[in-house]
Amino acid sequence: LNKTQQKVKIAIAQGDGIGPEIMDVTLKILKAAGANIEPNFIELGEQVYLSGNTSGISTKAWDIIGDAKIILKAPVTTPQGKGYKSLNVTLRKSLGLFANVRPVNALHPFVKTNFPDMDVVIIRENEEDLYAGIEHQQTDDVVQCLKLITRPGCERIVRYTFEYARAFGRKKVTCMVKDNIMKLTDGLFHKVFLEIAAEYPDIINESQIIDIGAAHLAAHPERYDVIVTSNLYGDIISDIAAEIGGSVGMAGSANIGKNIAMFEAIHGSAPDIAGQNVANPSGLLNAAINMLAYIGQTEVADKVKNAWLSTLEAGHHTADIYDNKFSIKKLSTSEFAEAIIERLGEKP
Ligand code: ATP
Ligand code: MG
Repeated sequence: LNKTQQKVKIAIAQGDGIGPEIMDVTLKILKAAGANIEPNFIELGEQVYLSGNTSGISTKAWDIIGDAKIILKAPVTTPQGKGYKSLNVTLRKSLGLFANVRPVNALHPFVKTNFPDMDVVIIRENEEDLYAGIEHQQTDDVVQCLKLITRPGCERIVRYTFEYARAFGRKKVTCMVKDNIMKLTDGLFHKVFLEIAAEYPDIINESQIIDIGAAHLAAHPERYDVIVTSNLYGDIISDIAAEIGGSVGMAGSANIGKNIAMFEAIHGSAPDIAGQNVANPSGLLNAAINMLAYIGQTEVADKVKNAWLSTLEAGHHTADIYDNKFSIKKLSTSEFAEAIIERLGEKP
């Protein structure tokens, strides 16, 4: 893609809680950086749920998503109570978003971290496993959940991971499952991992049992490069990685499908700080940076990333990452965005 081409349509979900605040500043930054995109706003989340639509997403939103095929989504709130389906699960399953990609890296010495050398990407299978939604009530006192693992599902996620590693110059892929106990399901995942790893001799591969792998990840995250794992384990270890990487407000993620992708922050709608102009927009901004790279606007992506890093380097931090030793100024959401816009064109 290049700048003379048509604007790229993006379906934009403003979300709930801090969602609208962080989306607003993210779009301002993208615009100031010259992103060649056309935002198409979609209705999804709390208001749709409360209007009586238990799916949380309107028919019109599906049409816009089907047309744009790229979504930038702020966090949404699922109302408490029976009958409200999780939008995240609905979107992943309906759109076939098979891979969930979460890069977490320390920004030492700009942002306080216990793991200055951490730079890991967790790639989680997003549709199968215990999250496939196959649950049964056998009797009043016995319930069952089926773990679904398929060869095509394993092949798709493992191949995606090695292609990702190659494309982003990563050196090593670690597979984490529990095939010593679940010999058939996790065994298949691991077997497919070894088969496909053999096709990528340029990338080191290693295998770890998930429990010890998770323990090592928490203690020595710098030893990992790219991790591929199944849905449930991936959910857990990507939260661990994000947490030890600093604030949950910092990391973005991509949900990748065939010809369709959804980019979002890893955190939730943070109702406790909504409407106060204090939220850190970095998670959503990082998701947007990855989105720009995905649609081929890598120059703009780099420009935004550099301005963001320069801002952090200057010690201009939002409240969640503010630390007396590392920070110089505590900024609101909108001030932080302004600080980034002022630095567009700078390199950290
Ligand atoms: P949800 O149910 O919407 O997923 P949650 O309760 O799981 O929400 P989050 O919304 O992710 O959790 O928030 C967890 C904590 O992290 C909250 O105290 C919140 O204030 C804080 N937090 C989350 N995102 C941010 C952010 N972008 N900036 C600052 N603080 C944040
Ligand atoms: Mg949450």
